[in-house]
Amino acid sequence: MIGRYAPSPTGAMHLGNARTALLAWLHTRAHGGQHLLRIEDLDVSRVRPYAYDLIRRDLTWLGLDWDTEYIQSERIDLYQDALTHLQTYPCTCTRRQIAEMTAAASAPHGPEAVYPGTCRHQHTDSAKTAALRWRVPDAVVCLTDHWIKQTVCQHLLTEVGDFVLRRGDGVFAYHLAVVVDDAAMQITDIVRGADLLSSTPRQIALQRALDAATPRYFHVPLMTDYKGERLAKRGGAPSLKDLRETGISPEKVLSELARSLGWKIPQEVTAAELLPIYLAQPQSSLA
Ligand code: GLU
Ligand code: ZN
Repeated sequence: MIGRYAPSPTGAMHLGNARTALLAWLHTRAHGGQHLLRIEDLDVSRVRPYAYDLIRRDLTWLGLDWDTEYIQSERIDLYQDALTHLQTYPCTCTRRQIAEMTAAASAPHGPEAVYPGTCRHQHTDSAKTAALRWRVPDAVVCLTDHWIKQTVCQHLLTEVGDFVLRRGDGVFAYHLAVVVDDAAMQITDIVRGADLLSSTPRQIALQRALDAATPRYFHVPLMTDYKGERLAKRGGAPSLKDLRETGISPEKVLSELARSLGWKIPQEVTAAELLPIYLAQPQSSLA
């Protein structure tokens, strides 16, 4: 088994990030696997240079180790190579144009506008500033999530549309990078936040197009505050760094994180002590 934690270095980790990191680590280590840290720093406009070391430090403080570290910005050639195996076309439509086109077709599909495929059928100059969109297969893609024990399906063409693999500014899209890396690193198990569940059919479709295996997925719930709202860096959730500086012990923080999942445990625990407790949860099973 090979697992990973794949943070974006956009700021300091908060408790919600830490809980996902903890579950990813517990999953790999409880099953005796190798654990990787992959820093997802392709979107330069969101990267904060201080965050790289802070993430490593926070994870180490919690006792969540890793065997190998990768940094996506050092792997651009791999993403470029994968692009050559996929059918893409240039698109210079702006966000606003897409919103207008989809409003005209009166196809409101949730929060994300479905790209109607405009540039699929017309010639668009492959100017430097054009984004590259993937001609998605006209198929329903399903996955059975091992954490929530549910099957989720999506018809990409009508529910997502041709999505961007490389942005107009040259930045490779998260979906492409994640699929290329999970395949290259032979990841067998992906434990990550439930906010990514709706991205997974896109990623599975890319895996199929690139002849890559599909890992097992475990989408874990996002941590919420006492009002039931999702913790976010922007919402002022306390960072691990702030907590550490108050003098609190990592064992206390780990205990709080595990209790927030409903686990019955002492007030202070080490990450290693949580391994058998994790294995006793029905969600951890590989079946
Ligand atoms: N880098 C992504 C994030 O921080 C996670 C990617 C993944 O686990 O697939 O939200
Ligand atoms: Zn377009």
